[in-house]
Amino acid sequence: MSKVDQGGVSVRELGHFINGQHATGLSGRFEDVFDPASGQVTAQVPMGDAADVAAAVAAASAAFPAWSASSPLQRARLMFKFKALLDSHIDELAELVTRDHGKLLSDAKGEVMRGIEVVEFACGIPNLLKSEYSDQVAGDVDNWNLRQPLGVVVGVSPFNFPMMVPCWMFSLAVACGNTIVLKPSERTPQASMRVAELFIEAGFPKGVFNIVHGGGATVDALIAHPDVVAITSVTSTPVAEHIYRSGTHLGKRVQALGGAKNHLVVLPDANMNQAIEALINSSYGSAGERCMATSVVVAVGTIADELVKRLAERVRTLRIGGGMEPDLDMGPLVNAAHRSKVAGYVDAGVAAGAKLVVDGRDHKVPGHEQGFFLGGTLFDDVKPGMSIYSDEIFGPVLSVVRVPDLASAIALINAHELANCVTLFTGSGAAARTFSRQIQVGMVGINIPSPVPSAWHSFGGWKRSLFGDHHQYGQESVRFYTRYKSIMQRWPEETL
Ligand code: NAD
Repeated sequence: MSKVDQGGVSVRELGHFINGQHATGLSGRFEDVFDPASGQVTAQVPMGDAADVAAAVAAASAAFPAWSASSPLQRARLMFKFKALLDSHIDELAELVTRDHGKLLSDAKGEVMRGIEVVEFACGIPNLLKSEYSDQVAGDVDNWNLRQPLGVVVGVSPFNFPMMVPCWMFSLAVACGNTIVLKPSERTPQASMRVAELFIEAGFPKGVFNIVHGGGATVDALIAHPDVVAITSVTSTPVAEHIYRSGTHLGKRVQALGGAKNHLVVLPDANMNQAIEALINSSYGSAGERCMATSVVVAVGTIADELVKRLAERVRTLRIGGGMEPDLDMGPLVNAAHRSKVAGYVDAGVAAGAKLVVDGRDHKVPGHEQGFFLGGTLFDDVKPGMSIYSDEIFGPVLSVVRVPDLASAIALINAHELANCVTLFTGSGAAARTFSRQIQVGMVGINIPSPVPSAWHSFGGWKRSLFGDHHQYGQESVRFYTRYKSIMQRWPEETL
């Protein structure tokens, strides 16, 4: 990692992280990384090519035999040391997240903590890998099973959780005995580099965890590499489908999490104050750039007018500014292109006839004139045929859809192809139970917005929000990162 000077501004030139150390990119191509609050370039990230990929996969392949033969207890002890290092670097890691992504520092700290929780779960790997044993399944025959590591795994992560999502991937992949090459988002690459340094400081062998930066072409080269056996990815839905199809076409194991369109249903018997607070945080926190963000509120029956009125008051007064500043509700979007895309959806919603209640398109933040800011936006009377309803917007734009009853709310949500998470606000246990059982969505919250499962459960959506068979982290990841082997054994009496 070095610093170059661009017109008097210091810009970090990043490298890859291969075989335990920083490595200069071989492609010679770079992309800019921005501070979203100021619009300034802060770093340049190398765009890895086939030669960079080959170097990283070679390091991971070379490390695999010894690492996969290490005992789960040895791996757990290193993981404990790594967790302690992460704990003592929470502030630094959170700041790196905020600088690249733009989210509030408090939000970034929450992200770092959620990443550490999965590392903490991985510390229990000896217990997680314990197998089953059946004595005497036939005369003098015993049968047991093992879960063995796969080999070199690739992780592809999105821009919006540059610390947490890589932790989901590498901590359990390596705890299970695999080695990994991570391809972080080219828009938010810096936190994962610091994590890789701490990983080595904890004492993990070189080559167990490597990083190659880049974009789609880099990912394609990783998938195609013959020594890569599995791919775990978290991306938008079109990219998830592409990764799933190309990986499985080559006979590789793939879990590819995709985009989201998360609904929050408010029943007339819900606690309205709690529902409004939940919506403000879940829809506008992190400027809506969360895969668990609520982007549609389904107002059931008579409460719609009051809900929209009260929401609008809150959305108009959202406190917006740079992520490093205190006491704010949200920061900027990640870059100028994404800001334009989100504003384009607002234009499309207006053109399609939705009622624009609060318009954030012209929002300005004094002192941040070049930053990628957009104000909170609220639509009412949104209908399923509109692109603001069907597409993932990934910005601070909330749509209200009005329905007459709970059954219509469930039918509406079950017809959507992006089924990551959903929430119901209600005072009725019976309604909650019916909803939880009938809804076709991977993660469900009852009076809880953005119901992110804890590290010892597992995370993932249904339908086009997840391609593959396994959810992320928890026991699901242990299954994804290992192959099941059944062993039967007989030792005839004459060997005694
Ligand atoms: P993205 O799809 O643009 O990029 C994600 C990753 O895929 C990056 O590392 C990128 O370099 C790589 N990539 C981009 N184009 C590619 C291509 N053609 N082929 C192969 N790889 C490619 O997504 P993003 O904008 O970085 O992140 C936001 C998206 O991720 C949203 O859709 C969000 O819902 C989703 N996401 C989902 C979850 C989840 O758990 N389901 C969590 C976080 C984010």
